[in-house]
Amino acid sequence: MALGEFSLIDRFFKRAAYPLGIDVGVGDDAAVMSVPAGHRLVACKDVLVQGRHFFADVSPHTLGHKSLAVNLSDLAAMGATPLGCLLGIGLPTVNETWLDSFVDGFSALAQRYGCPLVGGDTVGSDQGLFISVTALGTLPDQQLGLLRSAAQVDDDIWVSGTLGASDIALRIMQGSVTDTRGQLVDLRTALECPEPRVALGQRLLGLAHAAIDISDGLSQDLSHILKASNVGAVIDIDCLPVHPQLDAFDASLQQQAVLHGGDVYELCFTAPVHARETIDQMSRELDLPLTRIGQICAEDQLRARDHNGRLVDIVNRGFDHFSGGGA
Ligand code: ADP
Ligand code: MG
Repeated sequence: MALGEFSLIDRFFKRAAYPLGIDVGVGDDAAVMSVPAGHRLVACKDVLVQGRHFFADVSPHTLGHKSLAVNLSDLAAMGATPLGCLLGIGLPTVNETWLDSFVDGFSALAQRYGCPLVGGDTVGSDQGLFISVTALGTLPDQQLGLLRSAAQVDDDIWVSGTLGASDIALRIMQGSVTDTRGQLVDLRTALECPEPRVALGQRLLGLAHAAIDISDGLSQDLSHILKASNVGAVIDIDCLPVHPQLDAFDASLQQQAVLHGGDVYELCFTAPVHARETIDQMSRELDLPLTRIGQICAEDQLRARDHNGRLVDIVNRGFDHFSGGGA
């Protein structure tokens, strides 16, 4: 017999014990948490809908991972420290094997980043699977985090990791790009199993100025920083950190993926020139590439410097749910 709502919650979402600071977890009307003294609360939420954000047949383990990862990525982009999370889930059916695997993927990441599941809501759905995670974190009282509005003229622009893999993986899976050299196995890890840059975000606090996580594409997400900070930017096309396995694909496709491809979950941040050495050192310590890709300028456009040193406008083609365009 299928599990009822409450035994389902008990079996999959409740824990026997919670870490320090979680005073009441799953099982009461609401969770109760202690915010450490001298800190303020940070909150974010992402919604994932079947058919829009994931394929119906995606592995439940990676879906569990990604549902939390995209939220931890938002906390990272603020420089916040994870505190706990809530999971809203709409299930078309109760499949215990599927749920076991989903919760495994979710919990493994929650455990690694100290972000326990403290509550949520579980409902039936006639509209396919949907998932909504709320993540809570903290910042020291004297900090408002790495705001999009904090970029300054002459700041360096940096990105973590590499770009382009998720976009190409998605295109291969949708059938619009042919995977002649069998690259999908590796590329889809970037799409389905992104690693939130939590430690980087925390270390950038007080050093970097503005930050954003790249969910909708570098051009679009950097544009959010530029608009909020009332500045512009010049990107050096040759400096962009291209995922090593993209060289199997056409150069213009690579460039499109790197500049505009979404679902990246790397951090794009700006920092004063004097922070260069510290950031390079941070890159070695975190074993994470951190690449300077350009500079903030006063003219409020986003432009790219091409191989010949010419400045060209970057047309923002990142993802927008309501524009009908995008990846
Ligand atoms: P209520 O009717 O008061 O909303 P529920 O019966 O929906 O309570 O939930 C019971 C408990 O289980 C609550 O503590 C709630 O936070 C938790 N819960 C329900 N669904 C989930 C879920 N998907 N993940 C984590 N906790 C959940
Ligand atoms: Mg409820």
